[in-house]
Amino acid sequence: MTDVKHMKWWGWGVDGVGFHYEDKPGFAPFVKYAVGLDLLIAQRASEPDFSDLKVGKSNASPAFAKALAAAVGADYVTTDDMVRVIHTYGKSIRDLMRIRGNIIERMPDIVVYPADEAEVQKVVDAAVAANAVVIPFGGGSNIGGSLEPLPEEKRTIVSLDLGRLHKVIAIDTDSGLARIQAGAQGPDLEEQLNKQGWTIGHFPDSFTHSTVGGWVATRSSGMQSDKYGDIADIARGLRVVRPGGMLVLRPLPSTSSGPSVREMILGSEGRLGVITEVTVQVHRTPEKRNIFAYFFPNWKTGIAAMQAISESDAAPSITRISDSRETGFTLATSKERHGFSKFTAETVLPRLMKSKGWNLDDICLSFIGYEGGESHAKLQKKIVDKIVKDHGGMGVGEGPGILYDQKKFDTPYLRDFLLDMGAAGDVSETAAPWSKLVGVHEAAYRAAQGAFDQIGIKGWIMSHMSHSYHSGACLYFTFAFVFDKDPIGEYNVVKNAIQQAFVDNDATISHHHGVGLEHSPWLEQDISAEGVKIMTGLFTSNDPKNNFNPGKILPRPATAKQAPAKAPVKAPAKKAPAKKAPVKKASTT
Ligand SMILES: Cc1cc2nc3c(=O)[nH]c(=O)nc-3n(C[C@H](O)[C@H](O)[C@H](O)COP(=O)(O)OP(=O)(O)OC[C@H]3O[C@@H](n4cnc5c(N)ncnc54)[C@H](O)[C@@H]3O)c2cc1C
Repeated sequence: MTDVKHMKWWGWGVDGVGFHYEDKPGFAPFVKYAVGLDLLIAQRASEPDFSDLKVGKSNASPAFAKALAAAVGADYVTTDDMVRVIHTYGKSIRDLMRIRGNIIERMPDIVVYPADEAEVQKVVDAAVAANAVVIPFGGGSNIGGSLEPLPEEKRTIVSLDLGRLHKVIAIDTDSGLARIQAGAQGPDLEEQLNKQGWTIGHFPDSFTHSTVGGWVATRSSGMQSDKYGDIADIARGLRVVRPGGMLVLRPLPSTSSGPSVREMILGSEGRLGVITEVTVQVHRTPEKRNIFAYFFPNWKTGIAAMQAISESDAAPSITRISDSRETGFTLATSKERHGFSKFTAETVLPRLMKSKGWNLDDICLSFIGYEGGESHAKLQKKIVDKIVKDHGGMGVGEGPGILYDQKKFDTPYLRDFLLDMGAAGDVSETAAPWSKLVGVHEAAYRAAQGAFDQIGIKGWIMSHMSHSYHSGACLYFTFAFVFDKDPIGEYNVVKNAIQQAFVDNDATISHHHGVGLEHSPWLEQDISAEGVKIMTGLFTSNDPKNNFNPGKILPRPATAKQAPAKAPVKAPAKKAPAKKAPVKKASTT
């Protein structure tokens, strides 16, 4: 069978790695304060057991399975239950709740692992000839409901896993362009590039388990986007398998050949074909790479400073600021300090801030990243330091930045831990012009609080700004609450309220998580009815029989079964930990 590696069927990452908080003395008190959950007495749910899951039978006919086997080899076609479950959902909180709650309305009937582009073409042609559905699968990390088959789908569903296409094919060193197979996951492709002295510069939080094809298909953005751009900037050339032929877009620095077909593929979530190769911009690995931490007296001043930095000649790689609540979370959940570092963080710094007249409840922590040659990085920092000072902020050195950088890919494990303990933690993210950012932030907070009140729970919301542009930036909200009898229904109330606050306040439905089924109800409010008409035309004319990942992105007709608003899911049983595999300790920042 294939050696393609998948994440756990029930959660983030690989088996044996999980979140723990024993070395973070402030974590449990913080959780109690934020959502009222006492971790010291709460009982952890046992790890989900695959044999408890109700798995529907595959409806792939033997003749169709044979046709796929002829395309890729019998070893690379499977109807195995576990494999089909892994290919059913992404990793949104709704996905995790459903998988834990035994809610799988429809799953792929058959999973194929082609070895190369020619085999992808054969699979696509065989599937379309049989009027089957094709859902391309990258790392399965999306959180937009971009993978799940529609519950009402009667046709055979093929999950086309790109995992065997994982090579960096060639680097055009004269142009700074690398041809990469679409199924290459972040660490794999970055390692292949680094060996030759290059980097892609694209580091989403999900980097460890997502693919370059998935990044393109969802319009992803990485934490160093301020320097390297979003994937929409980084991906220059594309090869896409379509029924009966290839779409080939050569890597061009720019072109005026009509409306951009490249842009049509970006964010298409598998609806226009299967991306097999992406030519990306690559950069020489920088001589210097530092992340420095700064504090600001409050959110408004911090945002103003971020805008000033983005307009300056500094051009840092990361411009990020947490609001006061997220700052509180970060400080409360950092590892235990000792000696001088403890004294500085807990005594000297607060004293200094108070002496400046700051209210400690309002302070905001910022990380700014510098990359490039030694002198360039130094100059960038000098410019930023002045802007920070002019805005009344202060620098606190590189130490917290190093920690942030080291722990950035561990945070996703926290969601599984909270679910085990009976709490939901999830995110909503958006982008808006600078003039609207503070208003969007306030509106999302109001909306979340209204939703918490509506369902009668003590909830928590916090936010940071990242990914700066000339005219605006991304706001990223994290919310959490202890769920009651209807976890998904309660989650939907909160998530829907925040999404509605975005579109009501001139912000987009998503800056980098895509649309899928999760955000499609707001698409028309985001791009107008005419925008939806153009997009509908694009999908229906290019895929008249709706074979490619049907139902995603476009708003579903009112009669269609939307994501369950009130799913009959029970909270995971609060049992004492059963015979669990020992959990390797992963830390969070
Ligand atoms: C904890 C966590 C943190 C995250 N952080 C970030 C972040 O910082 N930035 C960010 O941008 N996103 C983030 N995401 C979201 C997710 O990682 C991205 O959407 C990612 O781009 C998905 O890539 P994937 O390879 O996992 O795609 P999948 O989840 O496998 O697929 C996503 C969609 O793309 C389609 N697709 C995948 N591969 C292809 C292909 N080769 N051809 C055509 N269609 C294809 C699928 O059909 C599906 O519609 C995060 C998710 C989680 C769970």
